[in-house]
Amino acid sequence: SLSDRLGSVFEKLRGRGALTELDVRAAMREVRIALLEADVALSVVKQFIDEVTERAIGAEVVRSVTPGQQVVKIVNDALVSLLGGDAPEGDNQLNIDVTPPAVIMMVGLQGSGKTTTTAKLAKFLTEKKAKKVLMASLDVARPAAQEQLRVLGEQTKVATLPIIAGQQPVAIAERARQTAKLQGFDVVLLDTAGRLNVDTALMAEMAAIAGATKPDEILLVVDALTGQDAVNVASAFKAEVPLTGVVLTRMDGDARGGAALSMRAVTERPIKFAGTGEKLDALEAFDAQRVAGRILGMGDIVGLVERASANIEQADAEKLAAKLAKGQFDFDDLRGQLKQMKAMGGLGALAGMIPGMAAAKKAMDSGAIDEKVLGRMEAIILSMTPKERAKPEILTAKRKIRIAKGAGTTVQEVNKVIKMQLDMATAMKKLKKMGGMKGMAAMMA
Ligand code: GDP
Ligand code: MG
Repeated sequence: SLSDRLGSVFEKLRGRGALTELDVRAAMREVRIALLEADVALSVVKQFIDEVTERAIGAEVVRSVTPGQQVVKIVNDALVSLLGGDAPEGDNQLNIDVTPPAVIMMVGLQGSGKTTTTAKLAKFLTEKKAKKVLMASLDVARPAAQEQLRVLGEQTKVATLPIIAGQQPVAIAERARQTAKLQGFDVVLLDTAGRLNVDTALMAEMAAIAGATKPDEILLVVDALTGQDAVNVASAFKAEVPLTGVVLTRMDGDARGGAALSMRAVTERPIKFAGTGEKLDALEAFDAQRVAGRILGMGDIVGLVERASANIEQADAEKLAAKLAKGQFDFDDLRGQLKQMKAMGGLGALAGMIPGMAAAKKAMDSGAIDEKVLGRMEAIILSMTPKERAKPEILTAKRKIRIAKGAGTTVQEVNKVIKMQLDMATAMKKLKKMGGMKGMAAMMA
């Protein structure tokens, strides 16, 4: 596994304080192999490695984990974040709370699982979200396709649009929408035709359907076994229609899930669901954490680092105490605080204990900060380079834009985190003037 391989790379480095460029580059060669073995597309691997290398160089190796484990953790965190693990809640949900009917269009290559996923989604929306759903097959290329969806509709007890022989896809789509509107359906699912390879006639047909029906969601359905071809498929569909998300099918198979990373990187859209079997209830919300572990082939390592995390926090706390004594507070400290806050069940517990946290507590009491926000703030800090984290003053507008992009958020959110760090740093300096921690203890006594 990746952790074993990294273990040997780092054998001779045990005990060093920070990851050097040489260490990181050696480790990244192993990470690269792991990603390629998981079938992540080559160009995506390259981009990912470049980003993570920059992030990892100079990172502190916390006590109780080896440098190899530390790198795995950094790679894992970056992967989870890229796969959408830090996405604000709701981002992975379907955009269907619109004036009915909401239109969801499924696109993808033939055999990718569009029709099956259409039925799965219809069942999910009907049974779990209490929506009135209408399905329509626009696949006039294969004679049996419309019949296939009708049968699935019977199995799932979801309505299907009556078949009119000879009607063309755009006309069927418009009829589906009209029918849904007149008969009070909440959601229309449009199942489209696919070809074995991306071809221009199919793409033109798909664009015409999207243009006529203006879907609220256009989901690209992709087989998790798609390898290097993932980039071509994703960019071809993205060029033609405004994709809103991805569904990865056959996650029940042997695929390591590298396609997830490729798809996410190329489409820049969230992976919303995973298909995990042929049965019509085999549909799950996409789990970035789990897929990251699967891509790296390191289910074992995640557990190990998790177990070590108690120690990491201990080491972090000691480091912070030392810095506080000197009146310093940078983004690494802020991140440490955020992590502890999450672990301790929120800001409330900690806010009273740490000087400077008063500002954070006020923000929380006023409703500006909640648990989700903590995760988002952490993602922002993780998108900074080690240098930026240690020297907040170098954050130029250009860097802020890059950080926002990396964390999947806005510059405004980045600015909020910067303001928080500034407030705390100011508080630390004041505290130092008052005689440091001892002074504070005296004040509190
Ligand atoms: P379409 O051509 O894109 O409409 O693909 P279909 O929906 O007809 O699916 C093609 C085949 O893949 C069918 O045999 C499905 O049962 C199967 N399939 C679809 N999704 C999954 C999945 O998540 N897991 C497994 N194991 N099979 C799936
Ligand atoms: Mg089909």
